[in-house]
Amino acid sequence: HAPKEFVLEVEALTVSFDGFKAVDDLSFYVDENEIRVIIGPNGAGKTTVLDLICGRTKASHGSIRFRDRELTRMKEHEIVHAGVGRKFQNPTIYEELTVFENLELSIPRGRTVFGALGFRRDQAVLDRIEEIAEFVFLKDHLKTPSAILSHGQKQWLEIGMLLIQDPSLMMLDEPVAGMSVGERVKTAELLNNIIKDRSVIVIEHDMKFVEDIAHRVTVLHQGKVLSEGSMEHVKNDPKVVEVYLGH
Ligand code: ADP
Repeated sequence: HAPKEFVLEVEALTVSFDGFKAVDDLSFYVDENEIRVIIGPNGAGKTTVLDLICGRTKASHGSIRFRDRELTRMKEHEIVHAGVGRKFQNPTIYEELTVFENLELSIPRGRTVFGALGFRRDQAVLDRIEEIAEFVFLKDHLKTPSAILSHGQKQWLEIGMLLIQDPSLMMLDEPVAGMSVGERVKTAELLNNIIKDRSVIVIEHDMKFVEDIAHRVTVLHQGKVLSEGSMEHVKNDPKVVEVYLGH
């Protein structure tokens, strides 16, 4: 059969820091509309993989193909422009601004809310902000100062700030860290809603959450793929139990 087209094709990716291979000849492939979760012990190279994809860190070898673009040759802002969004572990929202204002500020340049001659707001943009706020469960909080949101709501706001840029690949680093059980359930629902239009890569340690969201799981160990497949498959893989899940 014909070779399959993936959204993201990571091939033989390697990066060394002072001779230490943090990511070592790594290959993996992400589908359209897939939620891929990367798990693995501390130091396995999970964060470095996301840093490589978003262009923060330059690869020593290998390739990262996103649709028809080679990301290893592109600058960080070009990668964002190509449709790759990344959320870091700590929220980077503006606490002194409202939910609405944070979302508004995240709209890509060239599509600003304010017209050139004063404060005429474009209805389409207002609708978009409301739509995104609804997606991230903050529709009733548009006028709320971000500082008084719960920790979970701040995480959602940041996801909203990423979503408003409409990335076709979204990468999230431990999105449910510090969330309540109820917030985790809603975050799983949120991710399932947003992948209708995109693919998502998540780094996660919370195995209950991984079970809830992952289409496929990639287990990293020492910069390499230790195991890959459904959660059911990887959690029963003796190699995974030995280095990660067993303790
Ligand atoms: P994980 O996210 O799985 O915990 P990391 O990707 O953060 O793992 O780190 C993998 C390894 O690479 C670790 O040993 C870490 O110390 C090392 N490392 C990561 N970034 C750098 C860097 N900029 N300089 C030197 N070593 C680094």
